[in-house]
Amino acid sequence: MTDREVMDFDVVIVGGGPSGLATAIHLANLIERHNAEVGKAGQGEPMAAEIVLIEKGKEIGAHAISGAVMDPKGLDALLPGWRTMTPKPPVEAEVHEDYALWLTERGGFKIPITPPPLRNHGNLVVSLNKFVRWLGGIAEQKGIQTFPGFPGRNLVRSGSAVTGVQLQDVGTDKHGHEKPNFEPGGILAAKLTVLAEGSRGSLTKQLVSDLGLAGRNPQTYGIGVKEVWEVPKGNCPPGLVVHTMGYPLDARTFGGGWVYGMGETEGGKNLVSIGLVVGLDYQDPSLDPHRQFQRMKLNPRIRRFLDGGKMVSYGAKSLPEGGLYAMPKSHGDGFLIIGDSAGLMNSMRLKGIHLALRSGMLAAETAFECLKLGDCSATATASYARKLAADWIHDELRSCRNFHQGFHKGRIRGLLNAGFAQLFGGKGLLWSDNLPSEPGHAFMRKIDAQFDGNGKPKLAKLPEDGVLTFDKLTDLYNSGTMHEEDQPCHLVVTEPNLCSTRCVEEFGNPCQHFCPAAVYEMEDKPGTAHGIDLKINASNCVHCKTCDIMDPYQVINWVTPEGGGGPSYKYL
Ligand SMILES: Cc1cc2nc3c(=O)[nH]c(=O)nc-3n(C[C@H](O)[C@H](O)[C@H](O)COP(=O)(O)OP(=O)(O)OC[C@H]3O[C@@H](n4cnc5c(N)ncnc54)[C@H](O)[C@@H]3O)c2cc1C
Ligand code: SF4
Repeated sequence: MTDREVMDFDVVIVGGGPSGLATAIHLANLIERHNAEVGKAGQGEPMAAEIVLIEKGKEIGAHAISGAVMDPKGLDALLPGWRTMTPKPPVEAEVHEDYALWLTERGGFKIPITPPPLRNHGNLVVSLNKFVRWLGGIAEQKGIQTFPGFPGRNLVRSGSAVTGVQLQDVGTDKHGHEKPNFEPGGILAAKLTVLAEGSRGSLTKQLVSDLGLAGRNPQTYGIGVKEVWEVPKGNCPPGLVVHTMGYPLDARTFGGGWVYGMGETEGGKNLVSIGLVVGLDYQDPSLDPHRQFQRMKLNPRIRRFLDGGKMVSYGAKSLPEGGLYAMPKSHGDGFLIIGDSAGLMNSMRLKGIHLALRSGMLAAETAFECLKLGDCSATATASYARKLAADWIHDELRSCRNFHQGFHKGRIRGLLNAGFAQLFGGKGLLWSDNLPSEPGHAFMRKIDAQFDGNGKPKLAKLPEDGVLTFDKLTDLYNSGTMHEEDQPCHLVVTEPNLCSTRCVEEFGNPCQHFCPAAVYEMEDKPGTAHGIDLKINASNCVHCKTCDIMDPYQVINWVTPEGGGGPSYKYL
C-alpha cells in the first residue's frame, strides 16, 4: 500500500469556485469576530482553526466559467461593503438594458414582453474567472491556505463518516507505473469536509451514490458552450443582456442562448460573452451542442453583435438544472455539500452564483458552530439543512421547482408550464406539483427510433470559416487547455467493449458529438465488430463532465487528472 503523508485540518474545502471561497471567507470572518468578542469580554475561549481550500485548476479561476449575469444578493450578504472595497471587485458592467429574442433559422423577433425570470436590471455582468480570482485574494488575506493545482481524488471515509480528502497522485505514467517524479497524493484529514466541486463533482457523485443521498428526482443537467469576443465599440455595449429561445434547438430540446455586453478592453473595444445552454436530456443521439452553438452565431440577429470582431476565449461546462426536487441530502457525518454540487442553480433564471455564495456562507456558519461544539456529526451538521430550508435560497428554488421537468414533454408545454408557475407560486401546468424526472441520459433515443430506421444522417458541414464559426479544435486552442500527456486516462470507460459493439449499433457513439472538446473519436480498427474503436484524446478535456452525465450506458467515469491539468480560462 502507498504511504501517504497525513496532514490535519479542522475544515477542508474542496473547490475554489464561488461557493467554496464564500465558505472560506465567511468562516474566517466568523472566527475573527468571535475572537474579538472574547478579547473584549475577557472571557470565553478564542478559536484557532486550520482551514484549507484545494482547487484542481492550476490557479484559482483557471477552471471557472459561467455566463455571467450575477444577482448581487449573494455578494451583498457575503461582503456588504464590496462596492467600496480595494482592490475593486471585477464587475464588467451593471445591466442597463435587457430583452429576449425568439430566433428562427433566418431571423427572429424581439419578444414584446421580457419574461420576468429574464429581467436583469440592476444585476451585474461579470467574468467568473476574474471574480473568483478576486475572492481568492480576499480569502488569502484572511489567512486561508489555498492550494491550487491540488485535485481531491478520493474522500477518506470511516463508514458513512467523511474524515478527509486524499489528493491526486503525481508522476504515474499512462500504464499506471510510477515515474521518477512520483509523489503520492497526501491525505488532508479534516473534522469537516465541505464539498464545493461545482456541477457533477467527482467526489460528491461517489458520496451521493455510496450513502444514498440522492434527492426525490435524479439530478438533470445542461451544458453551456461559450465564447468571448472582442468587438468594435458599439456592437454590443457593456451592460446589454440578451437571451434567446428557439433556433438552433428543436422543439424537443431544452435550452437557449445568451449575448452579454461585458466591459471595455484597454484598446477601446468591447468584450462580449456569447453562449448556448443545451439540456442534457435531449433525445437525438447525434446532437452536438458545440455545433448548435456555431449555428446560433450564423443567425443574422446574433451575428451582428460579432461583426468585425475576434473570438478570444472558449470554454464549456455542465450546470445542474434539476432544481429543488433533485437536491441531494447535503449534510452528514463530517461533510457538507454546497453550491452547484448540491444542485443549487435556478435554471429558470440561468443563475447560480448568488446561490453558491449564500450556501457557502450557510456552510461556514454551520462549520463555526460545529467547531465550537467540537461535534461534526450528522446531528450537528443538520444545522446546515435547517439554515438552507429557512433561507431565501429555498424560497427562490421553490418558485421554480417544477420548471425544468416541464420541458420533458417539449418546448410548448414547458413554456406553458413556466408561465403557470409564474402565476401560481411555482406550481406547474393546471396546478400540477412535484413533477417527476428521469436521469438525462435516459431520454436519448436509439438511432433506429430517432431516424425511423434510416440510420444516422450525415450532417452538412458548417462554414467553419475561422472568422465567425470554428471547429472544436480551433475553439479548444482558445481555452488554454493542457494536461500532462503521460498519465493514466482520467476518462475511465468501465466497459470499453460496448463502444465498438452495441454503442455503434444503438446510439452511433454519441460521445463524438456531445463532447465539446473533441476528446472522443471513433478510429479505424480492423478486427473489431464494426472496424472502428474508441480513441480518447484525454488531454483535450475541458472538465465539463458532459460525458459522465450523458453517456447512454453510464460507463464513463470522469476522475481528476494530475493537478493543474485542464483549461486555463480567461474572460469566461
Ligand atoms: C455556461 C454557464 C452559464 C452560466 N451562467 C450563469 C449566469 O449568467 N449567472 C449566474 O449566476 N450563474 C450562471 N451559471 C451558474 C454558475 O456559474 C454556478 O452556479 C456557480 O459557478 C456555482 O459555483 P460553485 O462554487 O458551486 O461551483 P463552480 O463555480 O463550478 O466551482 C467549483 C470549483 O471546484 C473545482 N473542483 C471540482 N472538483 C474538484 C476536486 N475534486 N478537487 C479540487 N477542485 C475541484 C473546480 O475546478 C471549480 O473551480 C452558469 C453556469 C454555466 C456552466
Ligand atoms: S471528455 Fe467529457 S468532461 Fe472532458 S470535455 Fe469531453 S465531455 Fe467534457
